[in-house]
Amino acid sequence: MIRPPRANSYRDSWAGELDAGRADGPARVSGWVHRRRDHGGLIFIDLRERSGIVQLVFNPESAPQAHAEAHKLRSEDVVSAAGTVRRRAPENVNPNLPTGEIELAVTDLEILADAETPPFPVDEDGAVDENLRLRHRSLDLRRAPMQEALALRHQVIQTIRRGLDERDFLEIETPFLTRSTPEGARDFLVPARIAPGSFYALPQSPQLFKQLLMIGGFERYYQIVRCFRDEDARADRLPEFTQLDVEMAFVEEEDVLETSEAVINAVFTSADFDVPAPSWPRMTHAEAVSRFGSDRPDTRFGLELVDLDDAVRDTEFKVFSGALAAGGAIRGINAGARELPRSELDALTEMAKQYGAKGLVWAFVQEDGADEPWRSPIAKFLTGAEIAAITQALGGGPGDVLLIVADQPATTNQVLGALRLELARKFDLVPEGAHDIRWIVQFPMFTYKPDEQRWDAEHHPFTAPATADGRPATAADLDDPAPLLSRSYDLVLDGNEIGGGSIRNHRTDVQSRVFDLIGINQEEAQARFGFLLDALKYGAPPHGGIAFGVDRIVALLAGRDNIREVIAFPKSTSGADPLTGAPAPVDDIQLREIGLRLRS
Ligand code: ASP
Repeated sequence: MIRPPRANSYRDSWAGELDAGRADGPARVSGWVHRRRDHGGLIFIDLRERSGIVQLVFNPESAPQAHAEAHKLRSEDVVSAAGTVRRRAPENVNPNLPTGEIELAVTDLEILADAETPPFPVDEDGAVDENLRLRHRSLDLRRAPMQEALALRHQVIQTIRRGLDERDFLEIETPFLTRSTPEGARDFLVPARIAPGSFYALPQSPQLFKQLLMIGGFERYYQIVRCFRDEDARADRLPEFTQLDVEMAFVEEEDVLETSEAVINAVFTSADFDVPAPSWPRMTHAEAVSRFGSDRPDTRFGLELVDLDDAVRDTEFKVFSGALAAGGAIRGINAGARELPRSELDALTEMAKQYGAKGLVWAFVQEDGADEPWRSPIAKFLTGAEIAAITQALGGGPGDVLLIVADQPATTNQVLGALRLELARKFDLVPEGAHDIRWIVQFPMFTYKPDEQRWDAEHHPFTAPATADGRPATAADLDDPAPLLSRSYDLVLDGNEIGGGSIRNHRTDVQSRVFDLIGINQEEAQARFGFLLDALKYGAPPHGGIAFGVDRIVALLAGRDNIREVIAFPKSTSGADPLTGAPAPVDDIQLREIGLRLRS
């Protein structure tokens, strides 16, 4: 229900709200011509605006002038029509339309604007080339799927605001023209006219500002905020995207998780999205990676990764023994009893290679009593005992397809994690309507970058480290970085990371030591983050927070696999905007003002 519009010269009622209660009374509505049908003298128009659709009927006998006008109407013309609401004859009632019991018998029609023939039909949801849709976005936005998606998005955002307001959070804005905020992506730069040769960076997140707000005494902050990361666009990633950004002071992990669960669960409930009620289960990063090959595991189906090192510990098969000798891991999944022709096995092998593996071992477990226990190109290199041990470890029965990767542990897990998802997609392994939500916790604090011979922060460098036994780490603990965990957490829905955050470093000594370790020396730290380090000196409360991907959450709730479907004006996959033509060249005068000269 929408509140009635203020009556004016265009309308006094919403088209989609007219019903039998208004029968025999007058009404004036406005909207777009959705569809037109001529029936032996009578003309029917489906009139559409955001509230819905109502049928207009034009009778040549009782309203000849309006009828003559209606003859001119074409799809997407904009009209205002007045007349009498009439009950439809029982055989004409349309049960699929909320206004299906009535129609408006029009006596007065005004054409407010003509429309040219649209480049694609607005009255159908059928597939249309995405670039064409983006180029004519105002037409595309009129279509039902976009109307529904943006209404849902609004509802999600209102639910978030209500939830956080009830918990005494303040909504505070932070700057867009700022300095680099390290979230691991490339910055968008904005040349500064006031200082030619210098640049603002658009924020990758409000991370540093929200920490300053905590130090500034604003205890509970949130913002629904655009963030910018200059990376290649994908279906689930765009160069600009919207986050729900949250920060709290005097908190531990539990406080952030509990607030997040309350707010995000309210969002799910408001959208009738059926996930288990909080509190949501937690899984350690180590368990997620070892069982599902991913730090955002989709746990709605099996095909879990199994360790095969022990099964082939003494093998003479070079691929396995070589991997083990190089500190690698041999792991596999049992893909179940499936038809997988050679071409599809080749495709899976190709995929494994794209994810960094040298190859993929496959084996079909044969019937008991068959000549060979396996049908596999590598069967001849393994002993009977090894084959039996692998089959047993993977719980293989006749007909099952076993997929095995031997590589560095990270590669092995990543490849099998990806294959698992591909098999689930191919064989429809996720049960209809099943949803799973869980926290991933206890991430490693640092990962080592052998090429650069340095450690890097797994979340971001403002995250507080913890010791392996879960105690907040001190600066001295950072002398041995490898075993440290981080006080961070990710929220994963159906294999998608929908949020992530951490408890932060509120002490300068720990923060400086983290910078040190990741190769940011004091001078550089002062130059890049001096404003934060300074602020930390004057009494920073313990604090922590989280950010959620609003576009992704709405897309998941709407059942769309592409976040562009829930954004009014998204960039295309190339990162460009087919609507405005951005990015676009600028003229010489503008370049001169900002002190730039193009190289070609
Ligand atoms: N700033 C982080 C991000 O944008 C979230 C957080 O740590 O709160 O991913």
